[in-house]
Amino acid sequence: MRTNLLGLDPEALAGFFAAHGEKPFRAQQVLRWVHRCGEADFARMSDLAKGLRETLAASAEVAPPRLLRDSIAADATRKWLLDVGAGNAVETVFIPEANRGTLCVSTQAGCTMACRFCATGRQGFNRNLTTAEIIGQLWWAARTLRADAGDAPGPQRSEDRVISNVVLMGMGEPLLNFDNVVPALRLMLDDHAYNLSRRRVTLSTVGIVPMIDRLRDECPVALAVSLHAPNDALRSRLVPVNDKYPLASLLAACRRYLERSPRDFITFEYVMLDGVNDSPAHARELVEIGRSVPSKFNLIPFNPFPDSGFRRSPPAVIRRFTERLLAAGMICTTRKTRGDDIDAACGQLAGRVRDRTRRAARAARAV
Ligand code: SAH
Repeated sequence: MRTNLLGLDPEALAGFFAAHGEKPFRAQQVLRWVHRCGEADFARMSDLAKGLRETLAASAEVAPPRLLRDSIAADATRKWLLDVGAGNAVETVFIPEANRGTLCVSTQAGCTMACRFCATGRQGFNRNLTTAEIIGQLWWAARTLRADAGDAPGPQRSEDRVISNVVLMGMGEPLLNFDNVVPALRLMLDDHAYNLSRRRVTLSTVGIVPMIDRLRDECPVALAVSLHAPNDALRSRLVPVNDKYPLASLLAACRRYLERSPRDFITFEYVMLDGVNDSPAHARELVEIGRSVPSKFNLIPFNPFPDSGFRRSPPAVIRRFTERLLAAGMICTTRKTRGDDIDAACGQLAGRVRDRTRRAARAARAV
């Protein structure tokens, strides 16, 4: 079995080289080749001694997930479907903007959280992605975008980077795959790998309270929390895990996170569902939450998918909701819908998930 170097964070890679009797700086050279240059062929790593290249070829590999489909939307949003084996595939989305390029990365094949308004949640759950499959999405995207820009292979100057931000907002709940997500984060942040600042890497969570504390202690990055409702009754209906971690405990975890966060606010995501969570009374309750946690609200107009049972709030309703929050001194932006013609918008990612959980449930019912 060869070791997939995409699955090793900087420390683990140093350990791998030490085990082969190599100096630590060799690990840094290889980090640069693999992650900064997108090189998978050891023979082309020209500043490594020939003997080392041969050792690597025999004992290691750079094995990203296989690319199944590459779609480009009318607004230049791009979506890749990646094979993660056994009939499962996950999606990664690149969102180009004037002043930044954001890559939205998946962390699980499917999701166990079952949020009512999310296409991924409807699919059930197959498994956690490995570190190699998580960082492999960034590896693919950086490499493809760089080749398309006609850049010569080789290390890029950071100011030329096409991907300036990464958000863990694709399929899955990142904090329920903590042990594979954190090494991927460390690679995103490492100087020799992707060299992104902690402020430009955002993890979005449904609100797994104990894991928010662990992230704060082990690898704090910018944090977004999927709020979606301003009170427990409604939130439990939309986001079932709220029964386990109700709002008071979630907001307390957000305040604790801010003690170590690279940003001095939490982003609260709030999907705008027509007639469900978009009334003036909801806005008033939300202001109370905003007063209790330094935060910014990011309203997400609901993105439809077949049989969702929800409608997007009309633009005028979203505008008035925003105005109420702004008038109360909150910071509030509305997320622009991107890539919806290729089902790449928030909540539309489905990939292909062979659902073990629901099959298991059906089997249990049949007994
Ligand atoms: N599990 C994490 C990461 C997913 S991020 C989390 O819950 O935060 C994806 C974001 O899009 C979340 O805020 C999610 O609630 C939101 N979302 C899900 N379905 C959506 C839909 N149909 N329309 C708009 N936003 C949606």
